[in-house]
Order: sequence, then C-alpha cells, then structure tokens
Amino acid sequence: MKLNVCPGCLSEGFETYCVKCTKLLFDGKKISHILNFTRPEFNKIKMDSKARLSISGIQIKHSLRIIENELKLTERGGQFILKPIPSGQFTNLYQVPANEHLTMQIANQVYNIKTAVNGIIFFLDDETAYITRRFDVTGEDKRLLQEDFAQITGRTEETHGKNYKYDFSYEEIANLIKKYVSAYPIEIEKYFRVVLFNYLFSNGDSHLKNFSLFRNQKYGDYLLTPFYDLLNTSLHVPNETGMALELFKDEFQTEAFKAGSKYTRPDFVEFAKRLEIKEIRYNRILDEITGKTKKVEELISRSFLNDNMKSEYLKSYQNRLGRLRF
Ligand SMILES: [Zn+2]
Repeated sequence: MKLNVCPGCLSEGFETYCVKCTKLLFDGKKISHILNFTRPEFNKIKMDSKARLSISGIQIKHSLRIIENELKLTERGGQFILKPIPSGQFTNLYQVPANEHLTMQIANQVYNIKTAVNGIIFFLDDETAYITRRFDVTGEDKRLLQEDFAQITGRTEETHGKNYKYDFSYEEIANLIKKYVSAYPIEIEKYFRVVLFNYLFSNGDSHLKNFSLFRNQKYGDYLLTPFYDLLNTSLHVPNETGMALELFKDEFQTEAFKAGSKYTRPDFVEFAKRLEIKEIRYNRILDEITGKTKKVEELISRSFLNDNMKSEYLKSYQNRLGRLRF
C-alpha cells in the first residue's frame, strides 16, 4: 500500500506514519503501517486461539500489542484495539475504518477535542482497518480505572432491556457529570463541545457507553476520559435522523424544534443553559464548532474515504452546518 499522506494525522508528503504520529501511537517505535498478516489469516488465528471476541455494536475488535517492533495479536495486555471492516447489513461498511479515522482526526485537529490516539493501518492484502491506542493503559500492565455511563448508572440489557444504551438523554449524562466530577465547569464544556460535534458530523450512535469517566484512585474523584468511537453513521445508516439520545430529559421543545422537528442552534443554546455554561462561553463554542470549514474540507479531501464517500461526508456536514448556523 503506497501512501502519500500520514495514515495517522493525514498530513501530506508521508509514505508511512510521520514522526509525530509514530511518537503518539507507538512511543517512537518504528511500526509499519502494514500488518504482517491478511484479514482471513487474522480471523483464522482468532478462531484457533479461541479468544473471546468482544462484539460492540456492529464491530468486532481485536487486541494488539507491540512485540519486537511488530504489532501482534494478544489476548492479554493489549495496548491497541484493531477494528477491521465490520460485517452486517448496513451500507458502505468497507468505508467504516476510514470514516471513523477521519471523524476522530477532525474532532482532534480542528476542534481540539481530546480523543483516543488513532490511525489507519492495512492488512497484508491492503484491506483497511482502524487502530486506536488504549488510553486506559498507562504503562507495562498498568491500568486506569475507567467506567462508562452505562456502568456508572448500573444499566445493562438485563436491568433495562435491549434499548438500555439509548433510553437516556444528554442532559441526564450532564447531570451525572455534575454529580461525580469536581472540575465540572471545565469538563462540562468539553462534553458540550463533543455533543455538538456529534450532531454536526451526524454521529447517530453516540450512546451511554460512548462517554466514560476515569476514577482518580488517589482522591476518588472523576474526570472525563478522551472521546472515542466518533464516526459519521449517516454514511452507513442513510435513514437515520437526529441523535442517539434526546438532548433534554423532559418533553421540552424549542419553538424552532416545533416548527421543523429537528435540532437547530436554539436547541443547543437551551442545552448549554441547562448545563450552566455561561452565554459568552457557549456562543464561543458554537461559533468555533460551526466555523473552521476550510480545515474540515481539507481533511475530508485527504482522508482514506473513496471519492463518492468524501462527497457524501461533505454533504452531510454542510447540511448539519446549515441547521446549527440558523
Ligand atoms: Zn502523522
């Protein structure tokens, strides 16, 4: 696979991971952007080792760790998560790794949203996969205690039914952040930013398990973890509208929502107010997230999506942008 952009940050003029991405992803170790096995070989290894496959949503994830400067499959002590092309009934699934990679890069590079470190990597047969570094692994077998909001609220399929990840609102998550996170004024702006981002980039699957807190073992308080699993789901689930969760915990609707049945800027203003974010701050965040269009367009054009998907991605972004600028 011959490249002309860094498969980490999408900077031009690189044939593999650039120095900065090599440092971020692999602590400076020179790791090839091509794995030394094909996808079918890889699946076979998984079958043979009888490793437990963890299936989250539509994706099968594999754990990897660096052994002698190569990424190897592992059952224990994984440092990376590899997400190959998923299977299922959704459309354009072979573009999922490129979509997730692009969306994560836009969040981080354009809007300063702290995300899990990630990149594109290839199987030996050129098939694309998404690789992300586990942020809960801090050193040789050291782990940070991480809990997602399904765990924090004690919701499982057994206790709350099949829809347990979706029967909630973004406002209720904010209330929990207020309850647990002592740095609430700072952390809640990060949360507001990413909820807004998810709407702008049509991430329609941002549910309870896609937000997590780290527990500070020394002081017992909590902080938001980096964000993960950000992707434009409208490319794969074309009829999807809106968001995974409702914004508000009650039946409240803004006048604009009543008129158009979709979220626009006034809904996010109301949301920010309920989160107790100051007017000057939420206006700044709204302006920032709906600005920087040129940078977004550049990253889309340099991404690993095919041309058709690039144009679909851009269209969906421009459509939501129109709503948020209203
Ligand atoms: Zn790079």
